[in-house]
Amino acid sequence: MKVFIETYGCTLNNADSDVMDNILQSAGHTIDRGTLRLNDAGKYDYIILNTCTVKKPTEQKIISKLERLSNLNKNIVVTGCLASATPNIVKKASPTAKILKTSETIKILNTLVPEGQEVPIAEKPSFINSNGIIARIPISEGCLSSCSFCETKYARGPLKSFDENVILKAISRSINNGSYEIELTSQDIGAYGADKKTNIAELALHAAALDGDFMLRIGMLNPEHLHKYLDSLIEALKQDKVFKFLHLPIQSGSNKILKDMQRNYTTYDIQYYFDYIRNKIPDITISTDIIVGYPTESIKDFKLTEELLFGIKPTITNISKFWQRPHAKASKLQQINANEIKRRSTKLSREIREMQVLQYNNFKGLREEVVVTENNNGLVSGRDIYYRPVAVLSKELTVGDKVTVEIVDSSYACMISKPI
Ligand code: SF4
Repeated sequence: MKVFIETYGCTLNNADSDVMDNILQSAGHTIDRGTLRLNDAGKYDYIILNTCTVKKPTEQKIISKLERLSNLNKNIVVTGCLASATPNIVKKASPTAKILKTSETIKILNTLVPEGQEVPIAEKPSFINSNGIIARIPISEGCLSSCSFCETKYARGPLKSFDENVILKAISRSINNGSYEIELTSQDIGAYGADKKTNIAELALHAAALDGDFMLRIGMLNPEHLHKYLDSLIEALKQDKVFKFLHLPIQSGSNKILKDMQRNYTTYDIQYYFDYIRNKIPDITISTDIIVGYPTESIKDFKLTEELLFGIKPTITNISKFWQRPHAKASKLQQINANEIKRRSTKLSREIREMQVLQYNNFKGLREEVVVTENNNGLVSGRDIYYRPVAVLSKELTVGDKVTVEIVDSSYACMISKPI
């Protein structure tokens, strides 16, 4: 059969789509991925929408697509966090769509075979067999936290870490198939292993010791877990085959809001971690996420967030407006006016933009190695060992090439380089 997979949301969702892609291909089906144009829907026997529930606008986009596909009488499978958290919304948009929970993506084949026929399944990520330059390896599902703004927790449930040997085998297979950038992904990488008496630092150290030419990227890690293994994580980050990169979503610079969000760390912890990690690994890239307009966020709390960011200067800051989600505790609170949230978000985005342009500016003249991971219509880019995005001014390079470059300029989003 011909199947189209359309994916919304985070790296973990993309990794789940990789799992479904691998399972379906090994059963002989043909898979296309990307964004499906309605005019092309007729070419496919099944359409899989792997959905996200984090933001309201994304939900509206998914529901609109689902309604239009449903009107075309297509066979549809809806999986991902929106389908798991709010199946009623999905059913309303498409009463005949099959719903597959996030924990059941490994059962994707069963949605394509006649009722009653069961296909044997194994554990994630044993299906991952990536042959692209980037391999996304899911290492766990669910998390240990109960953040009051989060709907994903409702969709993915409590922590379930996958077996380390299964993960290491999936990584080795991907390296042997030609993948270079190995992304360990999860809802919260920081929680990995708490249910198996291990942790992300141990896993990363073991993965970094595997044979082959690759770099390991450690994904999003809730800072509440850092104190459990900070020094071993730093040791893992120092390994040659690990990107000097951390994604620590701090969400707010106000201790009151962090408490309301049930984040289990303070701004003092954050300042300590940033200083400590940068002292051990100078130039490390630390990326963070901020939510603007949490219902109890006052102007003073917002200013504290600005001050914290000016102080710790994350390399990359992603800003999201607070969105009311059906099962999130914070959705029941009195909300801040949408225009005020927009004002705060626009102000912070402008300030971050100015800060980031200046940060990349510091690297002008630097010579370093970059591995090309993207070629978008002749615009070539890759990552250095600090996982910094580097555009390369060259027409001759292709994905997978390793090249030594000199940084000649910078923009808000990346450094710009020339091969030397
Ligand atoms: S750590 Fe918090 S924000 Fe992340 S998935 Fe778990 S509950 Fe949601």
